[in-house]
Amino acid sequence: MHPPAVPNAVQSTGLSAVLPADADVPDGARDVVVVGGGIVGLAVAWRAARAGLTVTVLDPSPGDGATHAAAGMLAPVTEADFGEDEALALHLAAARAWPGFAADLEHATGADVGLRTAGTLTVAYDSDDLALVRRVLALHAAHGLDSHALTLADARRREPHLGPRVAGAAWAPHDNAVDPRATHAALLTASRTGAGAVVVPRSATRVARDASGRAVGVHDDAGHLHRAGAVVLAAGWQTGALLADVPEVRVPTRPVKGQTLRLDAGPELALEHVVRGVVQGRPVYVVPRDPVRDGPCAGHREVVVGATTEENPDDRRATAGGVFALLRDARALLPGIDEAALVDVTPRARPATPDNLPLVGATHVPGLHVAAGHGRNGVLLAPLTAEAVVAGLTGEPLAADDATALAAARPDRFTDHPVGGAGGTTDCRDPQMTVPSTRR
Ligand SMILES: Cc1cc2nc3c(=O)[nH]c(=O)nc-3n(C[C@H](O)[C@H](O)[C@H](O)COP(=O)(O)OP(=O)(O)OC[C@H]3O[C@@H](n4cnc5c(N)ncnc54)[C@H](O)[C@@H]3O)c2cc1C
Repeated sequence: MHPPAVPNAVQSTGLSAVLPADADVPDGARDVVVVGGGIVGLAVAWRAARAGLTVTVLDPSPGDGATHAAAGMLAPVTEADFGEDEALALHLAAARAWPGFAADLEHATGADVGLRTAGTLTVAYDSDDLALVRRVLALHAAHGLDSHALTLADARRREPHLGPRVAGAAWAPHDNAVDPRATHAALLTASRTGAGAVVVPRSATRVARDASGRAVGVHDDAGHLHRAGAVVLAAGWQTGALLADVPEVRVPTRPVKGQTLRLDAGPELALEHVVRGVVQGRPVYVVPRDPVRDGPCAGHREVVVGATTEENPDDRRATAGGVFALLRDARALLPGIDEAALVDVTPRARPATPDNLPLVGATHVPGLHVAAGHGRNGVLLAPLTAEAVVAGLTGEPLAADDATALAAARPDRFTDHPVGGAGGTTDCRDPQMTVPSTRR
């Protein structure tokens, strides 16, 4: 057992409150201040509070970033790509963390986070699309991943709503989905049941440092200094901008816009599985939630269709072209969605990085931790990220497999001379810092 890496630890059970905008912020130093209350920041805050740390989360609109758009696929296999072996290992480790995280959160709150373990069907629209699906199946086989080709008859047995023009299909039994909005709401609900953390609706402007260079808190846009033993930056694609006063740490996050659609499907469109597709070279996915149990909408289910990928800023504009393209490709695979009501178009920006890997853990600046750049898999990665950051805060070791996978996400990899910079020495209590990267 290592000593806590941050001072003033107290026992607590979870997040405690979301303060109104005009409320006073907590007096005195906290153990941790987390900047950003998306799914990543709140997962870190909740796990840190449960580890006995006092936590302040700063966010003017918690949950209104990429988390609000995410479909919630937990898909290490069907997200696997050529040349991205480190991401694959990280995503597999992240998927292992989800069942326990969901069970703990549901136990703590009584909420249903919408975890569905029905597997994922991948469908090819034409013969070129099928050739691509077969190449991807070969990639899966080379990595020993659990996926295989399906006959069309088997695919239709699993998902009877598949359209008449489908060239082939594949099955990934362990790629699942969760409801990110329900998960985020549960993390906020945890705020009402414990005493470890508060969510303060203010923007952070910059990291505060002492004379030695140590991060000692965060300034907000009202001029308040939130003092803390450790700072965790989890502000999605805006994280890099918070480091203006920490030039020796580089967090190159950028926005990559994506749009998702939410449909209200009646009982006649009873989709059971995540359906991913390739339609004339274009990727599309359709993610069903559990049906509503009671009331006038009993039998209806939310179905998420996604997603565009645009190298555009976070302009929050739903575009006609984006909506058209998603519906065109989704209905090519599942014609029944024509009858569903379109209830929501959500444009938000993914927090992307140059190498498509997140930045997670302690930086070489004492007291400064990062949990950002989770790109298109931040929902999948949130529980593992929280475990890793809290391990760095408390000095508890991570499981060896997780530490190995997380080496690819070390937060100093874009920094020129990470050890012995202006901030001081490497925090040797962070297990990630002792695990060598296999590649970068
Ligand atoms: C269209 C789309 C579909 C997606 N689908 C999936 C999917 O199926 N599966 C999956 O795993 N992932 C998916 N993702 C990715 C996932 O949504 C993100 O990786 C994840 O939400 C990142 O979480 P986060 O908390 O880091 O960032 P965000 O959710 O963006 O949260 C960042 C928070 O920081 C706050 N903030 C910003 N600046 C400041 C500041 N200065 N001070 C205080 N607070 C600040 C913001 O208000 C925001 O609440 C998808 C993303 C998009 C856009």
